[in-house]
Amino acid sequence: MSAGAGQPSKRWSLRGNDDEGNEVWLIRSFGQKLYRCPGCHGDIPIGSEHTVVQYVLRLGGTEHHHWHRRCAEEWLIPDLRELKKVPASQSQRGKLEERGKRPAGRRRR
Ligand SMILES: [Zn+2]
Repeated sequence: MSAGAGQPSKRWSLRGNDDEGNEVWLIRSFGQKLYRCPGCHGDIPIGSEHTVVQYVLRLGGTEHHHWHRRCAEEWLIPDLRELKKVPASQSQRGKLEERGKRPAGRRRR
């Protein structure tokens, strides 16, 4: 796993970049409905701890997916660049959607 940043937790989220220059935020979450993990295509049971993967796209806009923690760790995190811990307060969905309204070059770091 890159940089040993670990898993998202209550206090910390993770932020990295994918090959296409999109920001990828990994956020700890608990499901309020049933989700399907894009890694293994298995169910994520209601109420179980999992990882929300929120993309803030290079050209603007956001999208997110719900992953099992272990699947994100095995299949997603190894492909991310410059992965680092950021305070979970920075990764609230509203803030990321706001961030997605600007193309990458015009975002504050
Ligand atoms: Zn999975």
